[in-house]
Amino acid sequence: MIFTQEIQDYAESFTSDESAVLKELREHCYAHYEDKAMLSGFFQGRVLAMFSKMIRPRVVLEIGTYLGYSALCFAEGLAEGGKVITLDVNEETNRVARSFVEKSDYKHVIDFRLGPATDIIPTLNETLDLVFIDADKPNYSNYYNLVFDKLRPGGFIIADNVLWSGKVLDPGDDPDAKALAEFSQMVLADDRVENVLLPIRDGLMVVAKS
Ligand code: SAH
Ligand code: CA
Repeated sequence: MIFTQEIQDYAESFTSDESAVLKELREHCYAHYEDKAMLSGFFQGRVLAMFSKMIRPRVVLEIGTYLGYSALCFAEGLAEGGKVITLDVNEETNRVARSFVEKSDYKHVIDFRLGPATDIIPTLNETLDLVFIDADKPNYSNYYNLVFDKLRPGGFIIADNVLWSGKVLDPGDDPDAKALAEFSQMVLADDRVENVLLPIRDGLMVVAKS
């Protein structure tokens, strides 16, 4: 957390509420899962929903579903007839994600795919408007390269956790911190895009394709 807790609390207190389903999902996660910090959480969820409302994407690709929290946030901003395709390898969390999406307003627009993202992405024949990269960190650069040609010009890629709790400043032997620092380097050096690293929560890299 870059800001003081007081400032973060103030920012959250002046941010619109999430839906009842998202609140229930978040509480379910905090009560039953070790990996609580994997879920985007209230504030980042509202930021992702707001981006989606600004972009009005027809097709969102999410790499890393977990419990479906961020997929539901992106679904809020979909264009008429749009959808969120979301990928994960974990059957157990996928079942929970499906059960929450089932009772949301978005059950017909979220398309779950189970399997390694590097296998699934090449099979997608969609033009993507928005991609959220949030799965295994060593593959971030691979995911970026695999989705790039499927992303429409003017489309966006958002990558989560690019600050990795600050460890990217001095990655040492941490393979995730190294991969994330290299990912940010690669994006910065890519003259096909413009990007901004937003220090929200654990860091969001926002990339616009020219
Ligand atoms: N986007 C979610 C959190 C995702 S957590 C949210 O913000 O709420 C990261 C997820 O990536 C985990 O559920 C994990 O199972 C998944 N994952 C890890 N390796 C993967 C791979 N190779 N392919 C697809 N998903 C993967
Ligand atoms: Ca994340």
